[in-house]
Amino acid sequence: MTPKFYPPEPFRIKVVESIRLISPAERESALRDAGYNLFSMKAEDIFIDLLTDSGTGAMSAEQWAAIMRGDESYAGARSFQRLKTAVEDIFGFKYFVPTHQGRASENILAACLVKPGMYVPSNMHFDTTDANIRARGGRPTNLVIDEAFDINNPHPFKGNMDIAKLRAFIQKVGVEKIPFGMVTVTNNAGGGQPVSMENLKAVAAVYREHQIPFFIDSARYAENAYFIKLREKGYENKSVIEIAHEMLSLADGMTMSAKKDAIVNIGGLLCLNDEALFQNVKNELILREGFPTYGGLAGRDLEAMAVGLYEGLDEAYLAYRLSQTAYLASRLNDAGISTIQPAGGHAVYLDAASVFPEYSTK
Ligand SMILES: *Cc1c(COP(=O)(O)O)cnc(C)c1O
Repeated sequence: MTPKFYPPEPFRIKVVESIRLISPAERESALRDAGYNLFSMKAEDIFIDLLTDSGTGAMSAEQWAAIMRGDESYAGARSFQRLKTAVEDIFGFKYFVPTHQGRASENILAACLVKPGMYVPSNMHFDTTDANIRARGGRPTNLVIDEAFDINNPHPFKGNMDIAKLRAFIQKVGVEKIPFGMVTVTNNAGGGQPVSMENLKAVAAVYREHQIPFFIDSARYAENAYFIKLREKGYENKSVIEIAHEMLSLADGMTMSAKKDAIVNIGGLLCLNDEALFQNVKNELILREGFPTYGGLAGRDLEAMAVGLYEGLDEAYLAYRLSQTAYLASRLNDAGISTIQPAGGHAVYLDAASVFPEYSTK
């Protein structure tokens, strides 16, 4: 079923940046000059830039206002306290440090826990996580369900970990070789596919049974929570923040690129419950990122993140964003182009009336 309801943007645009569309001949020559490597192109030669979602979003008026309140004190800045309040409220872990982006959190976690020859299982590691584990001599292992590799399969949670594969993997390599386990939500290396609450609970139970610390890579945790609300029985009447709480309460910690669902241009988080590990994390952080109350960011960046964390959980915004993506996918499918999740499969079924009563078709 192709979704019938596409909500309009629940925001006004009050700043614009000009872009230009160059001719096909100029595009071809720009591609040739870049050796056909899109990472080597000038951004100004690109009209629709789909290279990444990392830090490329527009910030809100409230975020820009918060930036002016940035406290640039080296230690104990007011801006850190604001971020701390938001992080504790939303994620519920005992300890956290800010970092300059998601990969910095992964680097610190890997530096503290991964030794050569160790394995870190996940549904699928994001490329930066994979590389940070390898850089410490570890072996990242992907144990996503087989449905993830079949683009025509309409499974609603193609980011799920295969529990049988996880159990067999732990048996095979041995618990002592697994310093921590992960799950990436949404599974961005596998097309941004969501992970169900049921699956997160099952993964957490297996890790707990073997006393393997569980870290969630939560770059798109708000989007994942919204998918759970739309697609998983029992969650339709819960708020996204309640679902996010429940997801993260299953884990011992998380890494996060704040450049995604916290809607900032730079920033990351590393959250955890273990006090001894937190001491080591702080030592690594001071060496590589900065003092624990700013972690490689300016005070103003902490402010923008504190505001963006809440704005990223706004359900009207999430409804708009997911529906816009479903619309693009359905147009691509109509044109005969496959997408990792067929738009006619488990695309977004929005209860339009709950988000935009005035646009209800009922
Ligand atoms: C973007 C991303 C990262 C890396 O974050 P950066 O802030 O770009 O370093 C890690 N994991 C996932 C799932 C991501 O989407």
